[in-house]
Amino acid sequence: MRNAPEPILAIKRNHFKCSKRLPKVEKSMNVFIKGLNGCWMRQTDLQRYRDLFLVNGHTIVDDPAESDLILLWTCAFRRDYRDNSLAQIERYLKDYKAEVIVAGCLPDIDQELLHQHFKGRVLNWRDDESKIKEFFRTFNKTLGEIERNVSESKLCDDVAEYRKQHPDKPASFADQFIKLHISEGCRFECTYCSELLAFPPYRSFSESILVEACKLAIEKSGHKEIMLLGDSIGDYGHDIDSSLPLLMQKIKAIDAGVTISLHGLNPAHFIKFFDEMASFLAKGVIKHISLPIQSASEHILKLMKRSYTRAEIDRIFTLFNDIKFAGFETHLIIGFPGESEVDFEETLNFVLRHRPKYVLASGFMETFGAPASMLPGKVDEDTKRRRLREAGERIQAAGIICNTDDSALSAARFHTLNHIDIIPKEA
Ligand code: SF4
Repeated sequence: MRNAPEPILAIKRNHFKCSKRLPKVEKSMNVFIKGLNGCWMRQTDLQRYRDLFLVNGHTIVDDPAESDLILLWTCAFRRDYRDNSLAQIERYLKDYKAEVIVAGCLPDIDQELLHQHFKGRVLNWRDDESKIKEFFRTFNKTLGEIERNVSESKLCDDVAEYRKQHPDKPASFADQFIKLHISEGCRFECTYCSELLAFPPYRSFSESILVEACKLAIEKSGHKEIMLLGDSIGDYGHDIDSSLPLLMQKIKAIDAGVTISLHGLNPAHFIKFFDEMASFLAKGVIKHISLPIQSASEHILKLMKRSYTRAEIDRIFTLFNDIKFAGFETHLIIGFPGESEVDFEETLNFVLRHRPKYVLASGFMETFGAPASMLPGKVDEDTKRRRLREAGERIQAAGIICNTDDSALSAARFHTLNHIDIIPKEA
């Protein structure tokens, strides 16, 4: 399950126009692109869509009322994000005259449900290259020829302070770093994961392009705190004869002051590279690491097919505690099928003992098509809600920041997601 980030930075720009001279297109459209994505990673995909339309002579507008076409990137990693995407599709259909095209992840995660709400054209992520060819005349460049912006600049040093100074501007934890998007897709087979239904095959982005982009971002800004992002960053390099530690070494070699943060590293990958990671930590190279354990019960981890054991996560978190490394966070799924009170307590006690900086606790969302939907021992909604509430209260009482599905932070996130136009930052 995706770890819901805090609100993605929204950069609002007035009409983008491509500055290059372009051959005449048959019909130039005003296109409005909206990301409803719950993750930071899809910003690079939105940027490519935007650049594709621009290079083919269309105009990107920031007001859907001025558009001929509304392209919505939908998200469905969790029930609340799925329902939000559906509600937004209905809102755009009702409020605007332009054609709505539904893009992104929802079409492959729950095709049937989408079809109940939407009968128009669908541009699902994993087939986007062929769908774009089918739907639009790409006179100048196809999607495959559009470069991906692998780096995004840092916005602020301290996100809490930034929010105080700019209450109307959303900012996220990751905005304190230069973001480097290193790969797409995931090779794990977690039984609850709805995103697996939407991911394209795993692909590492070129090591030389990443290092060069990182170098440029550092030179341009003087900032040296890099965050590596991807759907499964620990798999980096398996398809290009490299690895996550090798990439980290190359990034570190750019400048002695560079620090690296890791977003969403599967604990199985930490174990795989345990010695390298311990050495990076000892040398102060790693500044922050998000390591979603999802559960600390051996029995539940097996049902989730998480590829690591309770003893292994204990080993990792004990290392953090022993070396007094405090910059780590984790994510939990509460109410997974088969989760007993004992399993729940075990997970909670694990978190309270190891004291991560931040915990995201999400209620289990059943996804049609994901193997966990077939598991027996479903936890009823009331129990799930009660456990979520209890987890939030007990974790916060211990002085650890905890975000749950029902928290005020979640509500604020949806407000931002729906009401601020998110246009990828850099051309
Ligand atoms: S479902 Fe798609 S958009 Fe949503 S969090 Fe997952 S990868 Fe991102």
